[in-house]
Amino acid sequence: MEAKTEENANSEKSIFDIIAQGDLAEFKDFLAQRKGDVNFFDENGMTALQHAAYKGNKDMVQLLLDRGADVNSGKHEYNYTALHFGALSGNSEVCKLLLDAGAKPTATNSVGRTASQMAAFVGNHHTVATINNFIPRTEISYYSVIQGQQTESYLPSILVDPLHKFVLGVNIHPVRLALNLQHTPGLLENADKVSKVLELLCKREMTRGSDTNEVMAFKYHYLAYILRELHNIKDRKDKEEKKHDIVELFCKRLLKPGKDGVSLDFMDAFLKDCVREFPYRECTTFHQMVTSLTSKDPPTALSVINCTINGQRGFVDAIPYCNTCGEEKPAKKCSKCKSVQYCDRQCQRMHWFVHKKACNRESSAPTPATNSKANIDTNELSSELQNLIAG
Ligand SMILES: [Zn+2]
Ligand SMILES: [Zn+2]
Repeated sequence: MEAKTEENANSEKSIFDIIAQGDLAEFKDFLAQRKGDVNFFDENGMTALQHAAYKGNKDMVQLLLDRGADVNSGKHEYNYTALHFGALSGNSEVCKLLLDAGAKPTATNSVGRTASQMAAFVGNHHTVATINNFIPRTEISYYSVIQGQQTESYLPSILVDPLHKFVLGVNIHPVRLALNLQHTPGLLENADKVSKVLELLCKREMTRGSDTNEVMAFKYHYLAYILRELHNIKDRKDKEEKKHDIVELFCKRLLKPGKDGVSLDFMDAFLKDCVREFPYRECTTFHQMVTSLTSKDPPTALSVINCTINGQRGFVDAIPYCNTCGEEKPAKKCSKCKSVQYCDRQCQRMHWFVHKKACNRESSAPTPATNSKANIDTNELSSELQNLIAG
C-alpha cells in the first residue's frame, strides 16, 4: 500500500465534512478528483459510506457504492456496519441500497444487535420492515434459468425485476398490492406462473434447515394467494366475455363494508382463508396467527398478517394512513369532508362508493379546523365525483 501523503489525508478528512454538510455538488467534485478506492476512514474507524448512511443521504450512498465502496467494511469500535447506520437514520431507501449491494442483515454490533433491531430500538418501523423483508435478487432470478429437464424456465427473465420489487414491498395491504400490480402488467398477465414461483420460494424458505425463515415463507404464500385470486377473477370474467378492470373489481370487493357499514367483512374472510391455506401448519408463525385470530375479540386478519410480516405493528398507529390501501402518510385528503386521507386520486376514486355516505354526513356538519395537509383540488374532485355518481 502506498504511503499516504499529508495532502491525501487532509482531503480524506474533508469528505467527512462534506457528508456532514450534505453538499452533494461538492461531494461529486470530491469523488471526481479522487481516483482509486473510496474506503476512507475517519479517526473513529468509520467509513465515508457509513457516514453517508448515518446521514440517510441516498444520493451519496449510491455514488459511493457505484465507486465500489465496501458495504461491509468498517472498524467502528462498537462494530456498527453501514447498515446499522442506515437503520438508525430511518431512511429505508438507503437501507435497500446497502442490502442490494450485499450488506449482511445478520451482522451484529458489539452489544449483539442487528441493524433491524437497532431500527426498532429507535422506532424506525418502516426501516425494520424494509430490512426484514429484504431478499437478494438472485433468489428470484434463480427461477428464470432453465433447470434440469425443463424446456422453459418457471419465470420469464423480464419478470425478475418486477417480481423482486413486488416481494420487497413493505405495504402488504391487498388493495395496495393489487394497485401496484396494475402498474406491472407483466406480473398480472403471468399471474399463474408468478404465483407458482412464489409457492416455490415459500417452500424453499421452509426447507433451509437452521436458516428457515417462516415469516418470509408466509409472505410468499400471501403474495401468491393475492395473485391467484386476481387470476381467478380474470378467468371468470374472460369466460363471461366481458371487459372488466380486474384490479378494480378485486379492490372494490375487498373494500365493501359488511352489514354494520364499517367492518371489512369480505376482506377479513378472504385473508382468513389465506392464513388457513398456508401449507406449513406445524410452524410457530402459523400457530401464532391462528391463536390471535381465534382469540376473544380478535384483531382483523389484515392486522394479524401485517404484524406477522412487518413486526409488531398494524394499520392502527397514530400515523395517518390511506383509507383505501393502508399506505402511510398519504398526501391528500377528501376535500369535501377533510376527515379521510388518500394517497392520490386513484385511491380516493376507489373508495368513493364506500365513503360517499359518510362524506355527505361529515360535510354537512361544521367543518373541522383545517390543517396543513394538501387538499385535493375541489373543482377537480367535484367533477370526479359527478362522474362517479353518473357512472
Ligand atoms: Zn392509497
Ligand atoms: Zn369526504
